[in-house]
Amino acid sequence: MVLFFFLSLPYTLPMPAPTLDALVSLCKRRGFIFPGSEIYGGLANTWDYGPLGVELKNRVKQLWWKTFVRERADMVGLDASILMNPKVWEASGHVGSFTDPLVDCKNCKQRFRGDKLLEEKLGVEAVSVLKLEQVQPMLVAEKIPCPSCGKVAWTEAKKFNLMFKTHQGVVEEDAALVYMRPETAQGIFVNFKNVVDTMRMRLPFGVGQIGKAFRNEITPGNFTFRTREFEQMEIEYFIDPEDKTDHFGAWQKAVWEWYTGLGIDPKRLRIREHGKDELSHYSSKTIDIEYNFPWGFGELFGLANRGDFDLSQHEKFSGQELRYADPDHEQRKILPHVIEPSFGCDRTVLTLLLDAYTEEKVGDDTRVVLKFDPRIAPIDLAILPLSKKEHLTAKAQELYKKIVQETGLTVDFDVSGSIGKRYRRHDEIGTPKCITVDFGTIGEDAAQGELDTVTIRDRDTLKQERVTISALVSALKR
Ligand code: ATP
Repeated sequence: MVLFFFLSLPYTLPMPAPTLDALVSLCKRRGFIFPGSEIYGGLANTWDYGPLGVELKNRVKQLWWKTFVRERADMVGLDASILMNPKVWEASGHVGSFTDPLVDCKNCKQRFRGDKLLEEKLGVEAVSVLKLEQVQPMLVAEKIPCPSCGKVAWTEAKKFNLMFKTHQGVVEEDAALVYMRPETAQGIFVNFKNVVDTMRMRLPFGVGQIGKAFRNEITPGNFTFRTREFEQMEIEYFIDPEDKTDHFGAWQKAVWEWYTGLGIDPKRLRIREHGKDELSHYSSKTIDIEYNFPWGFGELFGLANRGDFDLSQHEKFSGQELRYADPDHEQRKILPHVIEPSFGCDRTVLTLLLDAYTEEKVGDDTRVVLKFDPRIAPIDLAILPLSKKEHLTAKAQELYKKIVQETGLTVDFDVSGSIGKRYRRHDEIGTPKCITVDFGTIGEDAAQGELDTVTIRDRDTLKQERVTISALVSALKR
């Protein structure tokens, strides 16, 4: 008996993180993530969130919104359009910097079109036949200097074709050209004045937004890690340039705590600061939080100090004043500086799936469990009648209705298959608790327990407890 009990408890094998294939297969099999347009042979690197995937993703977004918007007095939310005036993308630098062969000057960080620089010396025909990888060696061989600082210090050319273009209205002409936003951030900057004026915000304050972004990535892949359509959860945090508080450090800490608080193993996370050569044109400091994915460390989250780059660009391009009037010092008008915490929503979901994925030996068997934090598990609770006998399922239905109505939890009612198979399914989708309604519950088998009692099984410890329905419902309400 003691031996049996011991064998039935799980122990985790010292296994590495799951392979990506194992996770992709579980996601498909259990309704988390399906290949996009599958019945038509798919569309490369597109993925659809299935019934459980959308629940998981929604819970991540709700938790994010609660933590970073609702529970903070210095934060408000926004939901801006995906299609914006194309001038927005000229001002932000996306139109100029994200097309054609792009070269960076390593010295002054200015960016240029490598083909244009070469064209001035060699002519359009000579340049049009060059391959991308020939652009940088050619710039160096011809000693073509940076028009801004005069140095010859070019990075390799990158062909960025990042922004998706489409046409607004019924005519497909250049005048109707619009872009699918490649980041949500700009929606916040262009509404800066609206938010300040309507919400009477005082510095420091932030605006949070969740929404889709589109990038025509040259190399998408690794499941949902890099796709052309994805969701971001972004914050622009506006500060007085004279404020000496370490807002950057405070955000870094808050975000680290949010991820690890969701159960992500801190040993699989690391912080990486961008080197000077690597910084984006708008940033004076950037750190990434990286996760150790099955293919190695990759960016999960980015934190950048954008200074007043965006607001000053939008002032210039729109001709509107975007200065903030200091309420404590009349006459003082400033362009706030910006700290930007930028989360990838899909990468966060992927990380949570990978980190929760566990294979455990139970007796001679291996069980797969998604050990989600209960706050993000797509299903809170499963009600499982022991068999399909009508009076048992009727009792279980009654309990199901009572729990759904009185607790507001997401409850799954599952009757098909053996009880063992149903437990396994719920382990694989991360349901924290399963409730079994058996013959004891309806008073037909005294050995199984008293009338109106059920068995509650814990996903992680596999411990089973006998509890009365009334005690269960009041515990769930709490
Ligand atoms: P990467 O270096 O991986 O291309 P990035 O530095 O371009 O990412 P940011 O512009 O900082 O990314 O975007 C903020 C966040 O949006 C990233 O940390 C990431 O989580 C997410 N993200 C960016 N591009 C993609 C993509 N193509 N697919 C999924 N998520 C993405």
